[in-house]
Amino acid sequence: MIDAVYRPESRRVLDALSGGSDIGETVRIFALSLLALSLAGCVSLTPQHEQRLDEIQRFADRATAVYGKPFVKISVQRATNLNIGAVYRQGNIFLNERMLDSPNLKKTIAHELGHYVLGHSGFIPNAVSQADWQRAQEQKELDANAKAVEILMRADGLTEPEAVKVVADALRRSADAQAKNNLPLTPGHLPASAELADLLARFPDSAVTLR
Ligand SMILES: [Zn+2]
Repeated sequence: MIDAVYRPESRRVLDALSGGSDIGETVRIFALSLLALSLAGCVSLTPQHEQRLDEIQRFADRATAVYGKPFVKISVQRATNLNIGAVYRQGNIFLNERMLDSPNLKKTIAHELGHYVLGHSGFIPNAVSQADWQRAQEQKELDANAKAVEILMRADGLTEPEAVKVVADALRRSADAQAKNNLPLTPGHLPASAELADLLARFPDSAVTLR
């Protein structure tokens, strides 16, 4: 449910967060989410950013209407040096203001809506081992990517190849950034290259048009 902006300057903080051996990964992710939430506040947006926010809010409104689900509000948070692009929590998508300039914006919102439509929550059962939790979380991220394709088709009327391309292009940009900057993985996620491979395997007919 935590999705990254890939910025080289965020690396030091994530390294610090991911380097502590005395707290569990789940605790770190929870802490990251809380931090992201607590940083929500007044962000002054340029007219261009206001317009992009308006566009993606209307996209979210179309999606929730199509799925017969309650309204989701997209809020922009002040950019932090954390590698968090967006977080879905209880009827809200909290968006890092840097994402308003990112070519991955549409995919990111579709992906967060995917978590919402699929009913993913941050709930972590006590009995689950960290390895099992990590695997389950990685699977949720893959499922949210695939659901994003469906949402783009149903809410925006894209064809399947067009929708797969939106998600695949974003994952490819992320994979390139991860490779180029040697970035740490976003908590709960497989490498973007593995997420891309999973997506293309799920939509083999559309994937052909991308090669
Ligand atoms: Zn996610």
